[in-house]
Amino acid sequence: MAKITKTQFTEAPFTGKYLHNKEAGTYNCVECGHPLFSSKTKFDSGSGWPSFYDVIKKGNVETKEDNTLGMRRTEVVCANCGAHLGHVFPDGPQDKTGLRYCINSAALNFKKSS
Ligand SMILES: [Zn+2]
Repeated sequence: MAKITKTQFTEAPFTGKYLHNKEAGTYNCVECGHPLFSSKTKFDSGSGWPSFYDVIKKGNVETKEDNTLGMRRTEVVCANCGAHLGHVFPDGPQDKTGLRYCINSAALNFKKSS
């Protein structure tokens, strides 16, 4: 787990434990417990990684430009501890935010809402 959040490693698609999680709750940072995403904005993007069209609260994640692997992407990190979470792409649901936060399951800790 720490490996992914510290080294920008991306887990293999369709392997993450939260990919098909449809329970209601909150996805928190695995490193520091900071709330990052809500199950309400989770959608099935078909990409093989848990996808969200919005963050749980503005400012809870930070984005930065990532030009590794010869691609221009936008990296998503935890605003509280800087853990690498995944990437955000501009091909999300157009009727929502138009964004797709593509997040590694291993960077998240799901807390079921009671
Ligand atoms: Zn964190």
